[in-house]
Amino acid sequence: MANKLIYFFGKSKTDGDGGMKSLLGGKGANLAQMTRIGLPVPPGFTITTEVCVHYYKNGRKPPVELATDLEKAVKWMEKETGKKFGDPKNPLLVSVRSGARDSMPGMMDTILNLGLNDATCEGLAAATNNPRFAWDSYRRFLQMYGDVVMGVQKLHENDHEPFEEVMDELKKEAKVKEDTELTAENLQELVKRFKKLIKDRTGKAFPNDPMKQLEGAIFAVFSSWMNERAILYRQKYRIPDEWGTAVNVQSMVFGNMGDDCATGVAFTRDPANGDNVFYGEYLVNAQGEDVVAGVRTPLKIADMAKDKIIGAAHKELSEVRKTLEKNFGDVQDFEFTIEKKKLYMLQTRNGKRTALAYVKIAHDMVKEKLMTPEHAIKSGDPEALNQLLQPIFDIAAYEKAKKEGRCMAIGLPAGPGAASGAVVFSASKAEELAAKGQNVVLARIETSPEDLRGMIASDGILTARGGVSSHAALVARQMGKVCVAGAGDIEIDYHKGTLKCKGVTLKEGDSISINGTTGEVFHGKIDTADSELKQVLVNKTMKAKDSKVFQYYDFIMKLADKYRTLGLRTNADQPDQVVNAVAFGAEGIGLCRTEHMFFEGDRIIAVRQMILAKEEEDRKKALAKLLPYQQKDFEGIFVALDGLPACIRLLDPPLHEFLPQHDNKKGQEEVAKQLGITVTEVNRLVSELHEFNPMLGFRGCRLGILRPEITEMQARAIFQAAAAVLKKGIKVKPEVMVPLVGFKKELDLQVEIVHRVAAEIMKATGKKFAYSVGTMIEVPRGALTADEIAETAEFFSFGTNDLTQTCLGMSRDDSGSFLPAYQGLEIIKANPFASIDRTGVGQLMKIGVDKGRKTKADLKIGICGEHGGDPTSVEFCHIIGLNYVSCSPFRVPIARLAAAQAALRNPPTAPSVKVTKDAKPSKPATKARTKVK
Ligand code: PEP
Ligand code: MG
Repeated sequence: MANKLIYFFGKSKTDGDGGMKSLLGGKGANLAQMTRIGLPVPPGFTITTEVCVHYYKNGRKPPVELATDLEKAVKWMEKETGKKFGDPKNPLLVSVRSGARDSMPGMMDTILNLGLNDATCEGLAAATNNPRFAWDSYRRFLQMYGDVVMGVQKLHENDHEPFEEVMDELKKEAKVKEDTELTAENLQELVKRFKKLIKDRTGKAFPNDPMKQLEGAIFAVFSSWMNERAILYRQKYRIPDEWGTAVNVQSMVFGNMGDDCATGVAFTRDPANGDNVFYGEYLVNAQGEDVVAGVRTPLKIADMAKDKIIGAAHKELSEVRKTLEKNFGDVQDFEFTIEKKKLYMLQTRNGKRTALAYVKIAHDMVKEKLMTPEHAIKSGDPEALNQLLQPIFDIAAYEKAKKEGRCMAIGLPAGPGAASGAVVFSASKAEELAAKGQNVVLARIETSPEDLRGMIASDGILTARGGVSSHAALVARQMGKVCVAGAGDIEIDYHKGTLKCKGVTLKEGDSISINGTTGEVFHGKIDTADSELKQVLVNKTMKAKDSKVFQYYDFIMKLADKYRTLGLRTNADQPDQVVNAVAFGAEGIGLCRTEHMFFEGDRIIAVRQMILAKEEEDRKKALAKLLPYQQKDFEGIFVALDGLPACIRLLDPPLHEFLPQHDNKKGQEEVAKQLGITVTEVNRLVSELHEFNPMLGFRGCRLGILRPEITEMQARAIFQAAAAVLKKGIKVKPEVMVPLVGFKKELDLQVEIVHRVAAEIMKATGKKFAYSVGTMIEVPRGALTADEIAETAEFFSFGTNDLTQTCLGMSRDDSGSFLPAYQGLEIIKANPFASIDRTGVGQLMKIGVDKGRKTKADLKIGICGEHGGDPTSVEFCHIIGLNYVSCSPFRVPIARLAAAQAALRNPPTAPSVKVTKDAKPSKPATKARTKVK
C-alpha cells in the first residue's frame, strides 16, 4: 500500500486531527484532536480504514508492510510511555478498539489489557503492588480475547456467557456473591480455568506472545466489521460496507486499581431530553466495559463531587465538558478513566440523541453560539423527526393507572414516549409477535448487541440493569425507541418466562406499559395519545406557546428553510391531509390522486356504471353523476390550499381496480383434484406464487385517450371548482397532470381536451384563472424523449414508483419476495422502491431533466413518487436540479430537513444567483434553484 498505514497520537507527535474521520475513523480522529488541544489522552496509534478496506479486498489479508509498521509503532509507544511490550518488570498494556467513520456503538469488538501473560501479570502485580488487580486484569483480558479473537461464545441466546459460567462456579466454591469479593488466589485459579475453557472449546492454546496477541486482536476487529450485528446496523443507518473500520491501539490506564480509581461515560448534555446538564455515570474501581455492559448499576456523575477520594476529578471533568463543547461544537459523549486520582480521556464523539434532544440541543447551542447553524442542520437525522410524532400516554388513562397503583417500578427514562404492549423476554419472541402485528415491549435483564433485531421489532425496551449509557439506552436513543433502563426492582426470569415486581407477576404475553419520559413501568395496558407536535399542528388542541417541543422543532424547521433550495410539496387528495401537510411546511400539492376520490360514499356505483357502459352516451351519463362530486372535492382542496399550487393527476389506475376481484373457484377445484391436495392449499399456493402485473396495461393516459370523456369530466370538475373558489375571493393554482406518458402525441391529445374545457369554463363563468398542464415522467420512454415531450408539457413530475418498476422490470407489488435476498447478496444496496436507484433510475431522471430543460430552460420539475420523502433520494433530487419534492403529509418535516442538508452538503459550484419564484431554474447542482410555491 502506498499510503501511510499508521497515525500516532501522543505528546511527542500527533499525526492526525479531528477532520480526518474517513481515514482514522471517528474515534481515531477525535483522539488525535483531543491530544492536540491538550486534554489528557493516553498515547497510542490508529491503523487507518484503508488498511481494513485492503484487508477485505485481498481475501482478508493485511498489506505486507503492516507487520513492520506495527513493530515500529509499538516501539514508538514504548518510548512514549517508558514501558515495554512483554516486559515482565514494566509491561506496556494496550487496548485495541474499532472506530468507524460514523460511530457504531457496541457493534464491533474491543479488547482491553492486551500484553498480559503469566510473566507480565506477575510483573504488573509487583509494579502495582496489587496482585489482585493484576490477576483481575488478566482474567478480563482472557475473557475478552477468548470471546472476540478465539470465538468462545454462548451457543444459544438465553445461555449464560461461557466465561461467566466458569466464574459463577468459582464464586460458588469460594462462597462469595460479587466478583469484587474474589481474592487474588481465586482470580489466579480463574485464569487457569479460563485458559482451559479456551483450549477445550477451540483446541488451541491462548497465545503468550504480546505481538501475536496484538495481531490477533487487530484482525478480529477488522473481522467484526462484517459480523451480523454490524452489517444489520449499517443497513439500518445506510453506512456503506466499503468504508471499513480503523483500529485504535492505545496504552492502558486503569480504573480498577482501587478506590482511588474509576471509569465512566458522560454526555455534555442530557441526550434523552437535551437539557443543559452534565450527564453521566461512573463506577469506582471498575474497568471500561463495566459501565456500558450494565453489570453493575453505576453512580451519577453529579455525585462524584461528594466522593472523598476522587471528588477533585469532578471539577476537572466539568472543565473538560466545557472545552469539548467549545472545541467540537456539539454535544459530546465521552469516556474517561481515573487512575490513582488522575483523569484520562479515552474517547469522545458527537453524542447520539433522541429527536427531542436534537431539536433542543440545536436550538440552545446555536443560541449560546457554541454550535454553527449549519451544523445544527447537518447534525440532525431527518428520519428521526418521526419520534416527535410518537405517542405519549393518554392523560386520563395514565392518571387512572397511577391511581390504581399499577406503577410497579421506576427505572431511568432512556427513550422518550410511551409504549404499551405484550411483554416478551427474548429478541426472537419480540420479532415473532411483532411480525404478527402485535405491540411488543422487550424486557431483558440487560441487552447486548445480539438483541438488536428484537429491539428493532419492539415498541418499547425495558431493562432491569444498566444505566443511561447502557447498551439498551444507547441503541434505543438512536432508534427512537421508547426505553426504560435499569429498573432495578424488577426481577426477570428467562427460564420461567416471568417478570416480577412488588408482588405482581407478569408472564410472557401479558400487557405492560412503559413511560420512557419518566421511567415508570406499569402492569396492564394504558392507552396512548397524540404527541405535543401533533396536538399543536394537526389537532390544534394545544397552543404553540404552551409547547416547548413545538418551539424547538419550529426553530429547526425555520432554520432548514433558510438553507434548502428545493421546494416542498405533499401528496394529498383530501382537504384535511392538505391542512396537515401545510402545517408541517408543504408549499402545495405535488400529487393529488383523483382516483382516491372515486371510493368515497356511494360514488363507486357511478364509477362502475361508467366502466360497464358500452356506449359513449351511457358513459357520459355516469360521468355526469360523478362530476359534482369531483368538483366539490377540488373546491375543498383549493380552499385548504388557499392559493398554493395543486398538481392534480387525471385518472390513472386500471379500471379493474374499481371492480370486485374475480375468483375462479371452479378452476381451483380441478387443480386440487389433479394434485391430490385441498382447495385451501391450492388457494395458498396461488397467493404465494401470484406475480402481480406491474400495471402495464390499459391505464394512465391510455384511459383518457381511449375514453376522452373521462378526461373531459375531470378537467371540467377541476376548472369549475377553480372558478367557484375564485368567486369566493380565494386564489387557485391548478396544475393538471397527465399520467404515464411515453409519447409526445399522448400528451398532445390530452392537453387539447384540457385547454378546450378550460376555455369553455372561463367563458361560461366569466372567471379567468391561471393553470398549467404537464406530465408525469414514469416510463423510461418518457424520460428518454423528454425533449419532445417538453414541447407540450409545462411541467414534469417524476413518478418514481412506476419509473422504478419499469426501469428495473420489477413489480412494485411483489418484489418484496426477493428483494431482501437481493440485498443480502449485495445485488442491490437498498430497496429501490424506497430509495432511488441512482445508477439506473437516477440516470433516466437525469436524462429527463437535461433533455426537458434543453427544450424549455425554465421547465419546472418535481418528484411525487414515494422517494420524495426519503432523505437520500431528496439529496439526489437536489443534485440533479429538481425544483421540488413531494411526499406524504407526515413526511414533510423529514423532507424539509433533508432538503436543507442536501443544500449544505452540495454547495453550488458556480456563484449563486438571486432567484425569485419565477426565475429560471439553474443547470443541475451548479447554481441556486427556484423554490416552487
Ligand atoms: C409514481 O408512479 O411514482 C406515482 C407517484 O404514481 P402512482 O404511485 O400513483 O402510480
Ligand atoms: Mg405512477
